Amino acid sequence: MEELLRPHDFKICLNMAAIVLGVITLIIHSSEEDYYGRQRRIFGMLIFYVLFANIVGGLHNLWIASDWAKTLISYNFNCFLAVLEKAFMYLISLVSMCYLMTLFRIEVDKWWKAVIIFIPSTCSIISTFSALFTRNVFYFDAKGDMHFTSYFSGAVNISTAIYLAFAAYLIYRFYKTVSSEKAIVLITYYAMMAAGIPLKIFFCSYAAFEFSTSLALLLCVYTFQNPSEFIERTSGTGTRNALNFAVYTNLLQKKRFTVFGINIDRLPEIIGSESVEASSNLLGQMATYLKRIYPDASLFYPEEGMFILLLEDINPEDEVIAGLAEQIRRRFKDPWSLKDDDIRFTESPFAIGFPDEVGDMEKYTEVRDEMKKMLIRQNREVLRVSDLNLKYAEHDKKIDGIVRRAVENGLLEVYYQPIYSPLTGKFDTCEALVRLRDHQFGFISPAIFIPIAERNGTVLGIDRFVLSSVCEMLAATNVLDLGIKYVEVNLSVVDCIQTNLADSVLSTLKKYRIGTDKINFEITETWEKEITSAVDDNVKKLTKAGIAFSMDDFGSGYSNVSRIATVPVNLFKLDKSIVQAAFESEVSYMVMLNMIKLIKSLGKEIVAEGVETGEQAKQLIRLGCDHIQGFFYARPMPEAQFIEFLQEHNFS
Ligand code: C2E
Ligand code: CA
Ligand code: CA
Repeated sequence: MEELLRPHDFKICLNMAAIVLGVITLIIHSSEEDYYGRQRRIFGMLIFYVLFANIVGGLHNLWIASDWAKTLISYNFNCFLAVLEKAFMYLISLVSMCYLMTLFRIEVDKWWKAVIIFIPSTCSIISTFSALFTRNVFYFDAKGDMHFTSYFSGAVNISTAIYLAFAAYLIYRFYKTVSSEKAIVLITYYAMMAAGIPLKIFFCSYAAFEFSTSLALLLCVYTFQNPSEFIERTSGTGTRNALNFAVYTNLLQKKRFTVFGINIDRLPEIIGSESVEASSNLLGQMATYLKRIYPDASLFYPEEGMFILLLEDINPEDEVIAGLAEQIRRRFKDPWSLKDDDIRFTESPFAIGFPDEVGDMEKYTEVRDEMKKMLIRQNREVLRVSDLNLKYAEHDKKIDGIVRRAVENGLLEVYYQPIYSPLTGKFDTCEALVRLRDHQFGFISPAIFIPIAERNGTVLGIDRFVLSSVCEMLAATNVLDLGIKYVEVNLSVVDCIQTNLADSVLSTLKKYRIGTDKINFEITETWEKEITSAVDDNVKKLTKAGIAFSMDDFGSGYSNVSRIATVPVNLFKLDKSIVQAAFESEVSYMVMLNMIKLIKSLGKEIVAEGVETGEQAKQLIRLGCDHIQGFFYARPMPEAQFIEFLQEHNFS
């Protein structure tokens, strides 16, 4: 042990110091909450590699310096430790590079870029291990010390130098996007690595290099890896943590304050598609403006596309808030500059009053999420907590108006989604899906308007329109000759409880001279819960007339398994949530598998919905699904395109 006390044996001292630093860094790192995702994982890897290199390097140095260590470790194992240390050093250069790239959010999007990044360290590592078999790289002397051939150390130093040059370039290019303190840490980090090279050559030891890396990592843990770090990198405003901290401390101190948010439409998409430089410049302009209009407020950028001003001693109803909103609205009428272009955004403001309206963080998150949902619908006045419920009702009313107008003015259209049959290799059925394109609001998804239309009854008109359109299409086109056996038409629960449903359906079919076997009605699983005598009558009458029923969205609700055997349907449509989940987890896969088995055991047919990839299609066909519906084969399309589709696919 006396070797450790000999101060001149600096290599061992450096190793020991570096190990201590490494352990401290590791402890700090692991005690932090997971906030940075990938960046954090890479950083963790880096600490681990440095620590490991130090430990094996330290053992190797100890072996050389001490007789005592020689009794514990064999000569060969000592050589192996030295080789391992070298290999890890080259890994460290590589991982440092990857870390730097995640800091600047640089994606390696092409495989060849990844190869270029990996080459220098991979070559070094391979040649290091080749030393176990040849003396051309380096060799060990009788004392167990390592000696490089000049050719090898030259090559390895070049590879490290390549990384350093690349790092220098990245830092030079992007240092403006990080705070000055972070920039200094980065420069220090790489300067220390660079300083390690001459030391390495001069002393033939890696200890100094490893020590400096450990020290640099410790600096990083307090800057880049510090989740309590409160300044948002790109905009120079407060982070989500900073906001949470401010809200929390203000609540603790029982202060009255308002969180005034500005949600900016499209901003996340723009930021996501631009370079770090361009986006931080854009956010910078907005931040500067917002800071200026109310200098007493603190400004945060807690999540993509949303700025928050925290105003103390202000209520959401105060004049100030409305005034600020007005001022911001005017500013947003003018463009912002993005690189050399001008770009316009729409903003929607909201205000939450603490502690009267919202008294804790949980409630805040909940209210903010609700507000965000409503803001998507482009609210231009300041949205307040008291508006939440009211606005929802208004939203429904608005959609209701749009749907009524669409039904009256013939703005509805029917799209057809071809459904593939693995047995014949053709598309022999399809689903009719309604589409609504409002002059003012554009396309509105049926997933949004159908539930509202069901609540107020307009769905009846919609479904009647869809059925007539389908019949008209069947009568006027040659889709039946093109291989379509029947069309799936959605029927809402509301339709089923109408006493005259069966009559109205049958008279429509008669009007267009369409056989009852050409229509399959899809009803959802929830239908069985609402079974009333009217539903029963309708289903019975229609079934008797020859119309078949399919059970839609099977598996999405709570199915009463014992009822399944008795429901009068011959086709089950596996809900897309079941299908898609099955390809994400083992358990969900088993769930789907058992559903398929159950349906098959009842002798019924299966449609798998929401099939988006070839892999999914292949597997579902293998499991025996009779029909496959999904974007992988075809999206819902207008009538004319549907006919072209059939011509192309069913007759080739
Ligand atoms: P649904 O009955 O489950 O219809 C299937 C939905 O899945 C359609 O959405 C379709 O576009 C979509 N889809 C098809 N393949 C894929 C895929 O591979 N991936 C994904 N993610 N989705 C896929 P759409 O057209 O938006 O309709 C939504 C819902 O609105 C329908 O769900 C249905 O419940 C209702 N709906 C649509 N048209 C009508 C109608 O004419 N009458 C009634 N009552 N409801 C309708
Ligand atoms: Ca359906
Ligand atoms: Ca469905």
